[in-house]
Amino acid sequence: MKPSYDVTLITGDGIGPEISEVTKRCLDACGIPFNWDIQTAGEEILAKEGTPLPNRVIESIRRNKVALKAPITTPIGKGYGSPNVALRKELDLFACVRPFKSYKGVPSKYQNVDLVIIRENTEDLYSGIEFERGTPVTLGIIRELTSKSGAKIPSDSGISIKAISARASERIVRFAFEYARKNNRKKVTVITKANIMKYTDGLFLEVARAVARRFPDIEYEETLVDHICMQLVQRPERYDLLVTPNLYGDIISDLAAGLVGGLGVSPGANIGDEIAVFEATHGSAPQLKGLNKANPSALILSGAMMLRHLGERAVADMLETAIKDVIQEGRNVTCDLKPNQAVGTREMGNAIMDALLKHLAEVE
Ligand code: NAD
Repeated sequence: MKPSYDVTLITGDGIGPEISEVTKRCLDACGIPFNWDIQTAGEEILAKEGTPLPNRVIESIRRNKVALKAPITTPIGKGYGSPNVALRKELDLFACVRPFKSYKGVPSKYQNVDLVIIRENTEDLYSGIEFERGTPVTLGIIRELTSKSGAKIPSDSGISIKAISARASERIVRFAFEYARKNNRKKVTVITKANIMKYTDGLFLEVARAVARRFPDIEYEETLVDHICMQLVQRPERYDLLVTPNLYGDIISDLAAGLVGGLGVSPGANIGDEIAVFEATHGSAPQLKGLNKANPSALILSGAMMLRHLGERAVADMLETAIKDVIQEGRNVTCDLKPNQAVGTREMGNAIMDALLKHLAEVE
């Protein structure tokens, strides 16, 4: 008898409820018993429960150790802080894993992209240590920094702190090499700007070199973040797995999504020592909310990543193949892939489910 899996399903807001419903149906069609613990979060929950990310959601993930998460809106420049960032911090999900693959049928300038970006998720300029222009604390820090470093910092500056630790660098680079081994990736490229930021990116690089020596079976390469931006645009096929500090990872991930035709087909995962949360790279696309227009593929592909994480590789491969089939055939795809002849989110989900059932029947 197959094992059953307890999984938290966060339905999110914006397009979240629509794509998570379709994704759940595709995963249920895999023939693996899931005990779904369905948790709501996001804008509407803020109105009802006073927070977009109630504790019950965190507790459910802690209990089940695995979650599939639809996107959640963060207001820009006002309102509450990002529930997505809060979740990663709270659960110490230190590794952000994003595979970017070309699928035939997705409009794109490139055909042969197949790379994974592993981004450190907890520190760097994203740790939220910031000091606002003109406050007494900020002015005090500026005076202190000026006296310690001799550098001239204008008194009308705001300050954001970039801290990179040896411990967090070691665990993300080790994670990247272990991921490469498990997933048959041949080369790890470490991305920094260590020529300029010697004590932060330089430390990341020093640690990466030491970790790489423990994995002689995986090719190791290092490059600068500016250089890789040009290289990715010119020759993306020469890269396999990239590992980076937080900020560069964020930026390069969007660049990579552009290489494979956009956010609609870009899945992802946030992984810690014990807990893993799988989610699409895209956001809640509020302008598509309730219109049955959003592409569910990125969240379903995130579901396939979750299946692999649970050890269900064969079914995960079949689910991914089903998505590939539907996209390649091009008859049942959403408007981001075929603006003039599109079907809806649910219809694309049904087509993926039919293709999956066909593959499952072939192996029975
Ligand atoms: P977005 O990814 O939601 O949308 C960017 C563009 O891509 C839009 O044109 C949108 O219509 C399109 N798009 C996104 N997903 C799509 C899909 N599945 N199918 C078809 N088209 C799709 O990014 P945004 O507009 O910058 O952000 C919207 C909200 O989402 C913001 O509040 C942001 O904070 C939040 N967000 C959440 C997450 C997350 O939950 N992890 C990630 C990114 C953004």
